[in-house]
Amino acid sequence: MREIQGRIFIGGEWRESAQGRDLPVVDPASGQEFARIAAAGADDMALAVDAAVGAMAKARHGGWSPADRQNALLRLADAIAARSEEFARIEMHDTGKPISNIRHLDVPQSAAGLRYFAGWAAHLTGETMNLSVPGNWHAATLREPVGVAGQIIPWNYPLMGAAMKIGPAIAAGCAVVLKPAEQTSLSALLLADLLADCGFPAGMVNIVTGTGAEAGAALVRHEGVAKIAFTGSTATGREILRVAGPMMKRVTVELGGKSPVVVMPDADLDKAAAAISMGIFFNSGQTCSAGSRLLVHADVARDLVPRVAQIAAGMRIGAPDDPATQLGPVISQAQCDRIMGFVTRARADGARIVTGGERRGQAGYFIAPTVLDDVQAAMEIAREEVFGPVLAVQTFDTLDLDEIAALANAGTYGLAAYVWTSSMSSAFGLVRRIRAGTVRVNTAGGNDFCMPAGGVKQSGNGRENGRAGVEAYTELKAMTIAV
Ligand code: ADP
Ligand code: MG
Repeated sequence: MREIQGRIFIGGEWRESAQGRDLPVVDPASGQEFARIAAAGADDMALAVDAAVGAMAKARHGGWSPADRQNALLRLADAIAARSEEFARIEMHDTGKPISNIRHLDVPQSAAGLRYFAGWAAHLTGETMNLSVPGNWHAATLREPVGVAGQIIPWNYPLMGAAMKIGPAIAAGCAVVLKPAEQTSLSALLLADLLADCGFPAGMVNIVTGTGAEAGAALVRHEGVAKIAFTGSTATGREILRVAGPMMKRVTVELGGKSPVVVMPDADLDKAAAAISMGIFFNSGQTCSAGSRLLVHADVARDLVPRVAQIAAGMRIGAPDDPATQLGPVISQAQCDRIMGFVTRARADGARIVTGGERRGQAGYFIAPTVLDDVQAAMEIAREEVFGPVLAVQTFDTLDLDEIAALANAGTYGLAAYVWTSSMSSAFGLVRRIRAGTVRVNTAGGNDFCMPAGGVKQSGNGRENGRAGVEAYTELKAMTIAV
């Protein structure tokens, strides 16, 4: 821990940032600074990109075969598993997540993600084609690494975010410069410390910490970076596209959401209540695909909403290191103020607090799980992403699937959607009508690396995970040979 604090990882070496500035890291459970990270600038980024370009050039001369990439990713997964408790403690202090969640989800899923992507390294292929134009041909596509990948990740799932960015890039044969979020950079730095022992060539993965405005922006505009993979807010995604678009970079952006949960009158309400609560309150609502907008049929609203509120009110909020804690703080003072602002304005707009709506604890950024009823489609709380433990409830009284889908499709986002029904035709009918990158029926779970993840509308561009997520780190070359 001591050795990695305040340093950046470039070309296989720990370095000081060129400008020698640093940033505090605050534990959201206490509100106290507990570490410092380097605030890298454009000079540091340029060094990191050079290292990545160099590593790719060297790899072209051999010694970094698909099997090598697969093995390195598998070994990195093993290394995470071997040091799982160390990762868990770092992640807990950085994010405020309950330790039990980190032990059950963040750490093992980071390893699982790397193993999944390891499997792709030796499985990417092109195709052979049969041309119709006159002549004799051998025509095929070659799938080649896109180049150096600049990766920028948010603070809500730091270790998983890093693993899910590094995995596909390495599988595809790219070198990486990763900039973690300034609030939560430590687990990525610990990951960097494991790379050499796992067989990653120097410079293949570089981890550079710093602010978005300085380090992040420098990465986006660097000419040596062929692809930007960004996960974060829609506002920042738009800014990245504005800069990287004219440079013709390949850009994937995974952005915000205001994901609807549609509950039909024939739904299993017990299962729905548990999953809806989990879906919005897990990780204190700081999940891009959180089902934050409950659209419930009026016939069952009076039955369902109190069940959700009861689960919310019964959740154990508290110290992240207590294994019984279910709900930790939100990430920062700024985020806490932002969330409470949404709640205050929702009440002023006429929404009614069923449970929560207040801060908790003497220190740190704890917010009680909050259910707001009587929400109308035009209210801010029905349209804007809160990114906190706040569920907005709207009711509807039609059974017409077009009308219900129109409610679900309102607003600018299209990341995820959830449907609860026991009717197959309602299930399929709504899946087809709802515009979102992901639609889940009768579950908030089923998250798997093999499934493409991404958004439509203002929720982003492109897909991560699955075949599509790995191929997003490649270019197709069309090869035609006259024979
Ligand atoms: P938030 O404001 O909640 O932190 P962001 O989307 O701004 O969410 O941040 C997600 C990631 O994007 C972080 O790593 C952050 O440092 C980075 N970032 C923020 N602004 C920029 C920018 N202009 N260019 C590149 N990266 C940025
Ligand atoms: Mg920001």
